[in-house]
Amino acid sequence: MSAGRLVLVATPIGNLGDITARALDALRSATIIACEDTRRTGGLLTHFGIGKTRKVVVNEHTELAASRQLIEAMLAGAVVALVSDAGTPGISDPGERLVGEAIRHGIEVTAAPGASAAIMALTISGLPSARWVFEGFLPRSGSARTERIKATAGERRTVVLYESPHRVARTIADLSEACGGERRIVLARELTKLHEQVWRGTLHEAATATVAIEPLGEYVIVLDGAPPPPPADTDDTLTALQTALAAGLDKKQAIAKVAADLDVPKRVVYDLALTLGRNT
Ligand code: SAM
Repeated sequence: MSAGRLVLVATPIGNLGDITARALDALRSATIIACEDTRRTGGLLTHFGIGKTRKVVVNEHTELAASRQLIEAMLAGAVVALVSDAGTPGISDPGERLVGEAIRHGIEVTAAPGASAAIMALTISGLPSARWVFEGFLPRSGSARTERIKATAGERRTVVLYESPHRVARTIADLSEACGGERRIVLARELTKLHEQVWRGTLHEAATATVAIEPLGEYVIVLDGAPPPPPADTDDTLTALQTALAAGLDKKQAIAKVAADLDVPKRVVYDLALTLGRNT
């Protein structure tokens, strides 16, 4: 077992006051700092008076090759601190592959946790936060985008999305078409920065809101989950019963299946099954 390890270090998403004491310790004591951009991370380190530590660039182009180099170093005892340009590494940022490789090589992986735009936006959105999903950036075009928007529209849990400023208006229009204009949406812009703004309304209202039209700053979109489907009516229940019986289930099995599938009380399905018997 090596003495080296990998530490994922979260950095501020805007306000430098959000760096944590543990993040600074991890950056100070690392043998190597793996970062997306040496200039950006260099600026952060200089601000906090952290001296020259060897840096390795890990971005979407270099992650594979850099991971090999970093794994070798950690196997030889290096402590690698991985940072991204902002926020939590691995969240719409490099990290996943390096973490996977480190685990595969038996290297200890830990984190100095901290800011992430997704968590901040979700928790201040006012939308349900007990169950939610993170979709990151939507595909930019084509069937991949259409399919993801369709799935997002049907999602019952709150959905958190990242979006670039120039695409926010387009994404709101596409979501509005797929979800209907009444769905609630929150646009969280420039979080922790001077011009932080949290806009809350419906998709229909968002389409004309200045916050969505001015492509300024960084955005998180938080979308309310889809409403539950309307309860099955008598006709739906009868049709489902007939289908289940025609498929060969006996009456008891058909009643149980329809009650479970349509979320209708068994008693109601049973009563309808009796009328079916009378009519046939
Ligand atoms: N790893 C980062 C995190 O943990 O939040 C996210 C990196 S991702 C490449 C960048 C996206 O995060 C931006 O396009 C924006 O959607 C969101 N973001 C980052 N900082 C933000 C901020 N201060 N305010 C609003 N959104 C932000």
